[in-house]
Amino acid sequence: MRLLTALLPRAPSRVQPPTCGDVLVAWRDAALWNDRDGSELQAIAETILLRSTPPDIRLRHANGQEVVYARQVTARRPVVGRIQGYRRLAHGMRLLSGAVGGNASASVAAGAVNITVTAPSCRRGRGSGALVPISATPEQQLGLIARHGVSLSAFNGLRMGMGGSQVGLSSPSVLRESRKRLAGLPSKGVFVTASGAHLMSIKAAVHEKLDALSASNSFVERLLRDEHLQPVSQTVAHEVPPADDPGSGAAAPPANVMDVHLTLGLDKGGDPSSVNIVMGVINQRRPQKIDNTILGAVCLANKDRYDEVAEMLSEHLEQVGQLVREGVVFGGVRRAVRRFFSGDYEALCTVHGHKGPSATMPCLNCLSTRAPSSAHADLDTLYGTLQDVDRPTPSHPRSASHLVRMVAAGAPGASPGQQISDLSQAGHRSIDRPPLFTIDPRQIVPIPLHVLLGTTLRPLRLAVEIVISCRGSNDGQTFANELAETLRRVVRVRPASYLGGVFIGRDCHTIAQGATPFAAPSLV
Ligand SMILES: [Zn+2]
Repeated sequence: MRLLTALLPRAPSRVQPPTCGDVLVAWRDAALWNDRDGSELQAIAETILLRSTPPDIRLRHANGQEVVYARQVTARRPVVGRIQGYRRLAHGMRLLSGAVGGNASASVAAGAVNITVTAPSCRRGRGSGALVPISATPEQQLGLIARHGVSLSAFNGLRMGMGGSQVGLSSPSVLRESRKRLAGLPSKGVFVTASGAHLMSIKAAVHEKLDALSASNSFVERLLRDEHLQPVSQTVAHEVPPADDPGSGAAAPPANVMDVHLTLGLDKGGDPSSVNIVMGVINQRRPQKIDNTILGAVCLANKDRYDEVAEMLSEHLEQVGQLVREGVVFGGVRRAVRRFFSGDYEALCTVHGHKGPSATMPCLNCLSTRAPSSAHADLDTLYGTLQDVDRPTPSHPRSASHLVRMVAAGAPGASPGQQISDLSQAGHRSIDRPPLFTIDPRQIVPIPLHVLLGTTLRPLRLAVEIVISCRGSNDGQTFANELAETLRRVVRVRPASYLGGVFIGRDCHTIAQGATPFAAPSLV
């Protein structure tokens, strides 16, 4: 089409344009002259051979009508976020690789490839300039293969290309053997029950993780802080309680006892939907990375119901209890295990046998009631309500001992009057089933992403509420519309159609970075 367009003379539309065949015949008959048709021939050659970017593309239809597609340049924002920055860099690299040799040059420039000038066919060159044999064990190489999603055959192809066994890379048969050995370790063993697939030994997996942290010298101390936010140094080793001591079950040793922080969380999602138990040792840099976590169980379910979660956790609770009781030996010293529980709020409530966010006492950390009401006036007076936003900290926190009492009240042998169904609101405190965990409520931690999603939306809503209360509903309506337009056009984010209409995590960061536009709407 471009060829035809280039050949089109600027003539009245009635003139029949020559066909490609006409041009070819003319060319073969030497009817095209360099001095007369040189510029057109150049244009044809450029159209065919070069990737040009003409300012506009013209298309002439059979009826003589000419359509012009003009290039429109959209100004790019000078400052962009991290992800957009990566996208632009990748786009630039792709453009660069269009040039001859550009791909290799770009890789070298980005540090992805090292150039080693060797002469494999030259005997004198071997050993001196050739690749240094790799010292990684087959297991370590297997870890790299798994981490980067390379197949064994692709890995072997690279190995053969780089010099075969001389470079120290393991052969596929050696790698398969080491894979078998790894799969046989207790920390990697998996068993399957009606509830799902479970890790054979969570205890062994935690010990293996700690050994790895010790071997790589990357164990990070996590000290608790006192009331003045100063870190409390850990000086005392953990002592295993006597066998007849039931222990507190709170998994919250004193701040001066040396400890290891162990997280346990429930996460649901995926397709097909599953509920997963995820564990992690926080005493390392970037514990949130998926490679640094331990997958404890995967159970096919689309909701974290109490009975299903109880069945899932029952496979592991004993081992987790042992870990908390006995602690772990790290660096020759026995350390206590401080357990944290994480998950979305629904999962947290399920695990603690709590009625949920619409209960009279909806908070898992304190006993404040949801809102003042005549039915619970006594409780409101005692514990306050969540509407008392002036209080900096909850004055009536929940305690692990109450969770322990609720476990006893839910046990089959609980005496009448002590069972959960017999307790008043002040007694059960919105917990209507035996908790599956009895940790210190201060160690129940929400997922940071969920905090981000909640706290991003809340100030925006508060801003609208302030305008309504100060200037009335009409101004509030106008301001809300302006705010939505600013978010859409300037900040370029929009609420997700799922997750209850909150902004997704990436957009939350974009809103925080582009907060200056919010000073502009009619707040002043
Ligand atoms: Zn609270």
